[in-house]
Amino acid sequence: MKYSNFCHSSESGLPAGRQGIHYLIIIIMKTLRNYISEAQKDGTALGHFNISELTCFKAIVDSAKELNLPVIMGTSEGEREFLGAENVVSLVYNLRENHGLPIFLNADHTYNLEKVREAAILGYDSIIFDGAKLPYEENIRQTREAVKIAKDINTDIIVEGELGYIGQSSALLDKLPEGAQVTGDMLTSVKEAQEFVRETGVDLFAPAVGNIHGMLSNAPNPALNIARISEIAKAVPVPLVLHGGSGLRDEEFVGAAKNGIAIIHISTEIRLAWRQGLERALLEKPREVAPYKLLSYSVDEMKKIISQRLKLFSGL
Ligand SMILES: [Zn+2]
Repeated sequence: MKYSNFCHSSESGLPAGRQGIHYLIIIIMKTLRNYISEAQKDGTALGHFNISELTCFKAIVDSAKELNLPVIMGTSEGEREFLGAENVVSLVYNLRENHGLPIFLNADHTYNLEKVREAAILGYDSIIFDGAKLPYEENIRQTREAVKIAKDINTDIIVEGELGYIGQSSALLDKLPEGAQVTGDMLTSVKEAQEFVRETGVDLFAPAVGNIHGMLSNAPNPALNIARISEIAKAVPVPLVLHGGSGLRDEEFVGAAKNGIAIIHISTEIRLAWRQGLERALLEKPREVAPYKLLSYSVDEMKKIISQRLKLFSGL
């Protein structure tokens, strides 16, 4: 899972006269697809963390760098709007192309096909088309269309589809999201999973296996159905993605990764850490106005969560 195995060739390989004038670095780096299949093979998972401003961005990059691990950054439609999707692409490309860091960018929960096209044109590494709230047949139809649109623009792009509604908000919740499919018969079935993956041609599949978006504020989140994860993973030819990882117990993450989950999404927990860090900073420094001196508290709080999660997911 570590990224130390690039092929580097630098100016030392150039003719003497050109050294120091032309500095050439060729980095052959593993692709996101490589990292995902390695994780699946190893029974580990890649961490996916959302960013909506640069404090989160810094916390994710610093954590991944310190642990020498690949990481996926996600931006939802709202987060893309706020940050400017083009800006985020530039930031991630700079880290990857100019600094060799295995940091990848995912267009998280994309609800309409025009936004799929937009993210593919901008150069996102992967896109989630989220038709989980649509009727089953319509979800298949639109997801298939999303795959076609994205791959016509970039043949290497990774497209993820979702089946089973698990709520939409990465927030602190008083109760389960209305209509969330979290227990018994409502979970994604093996049969539907197989059909959905076959009919849509997605590269990654996100099932409803007891997970919800958001965290319950007054009770633990529902438990994952690890047996169902395992059954679906054996039945479909693509890796699985777990959404709504915030609030789950450590052993559930490990069990999920060992049974076919190759990517785990964490958002609410880092949003909470961001806020708690900021609240502490404002309290401790009531007269401070330099944003970076206040926001460094948020970075520290988020890094604690991100590092802990990355270590757990990767088996470090
Ligand atoms: Zn999600």
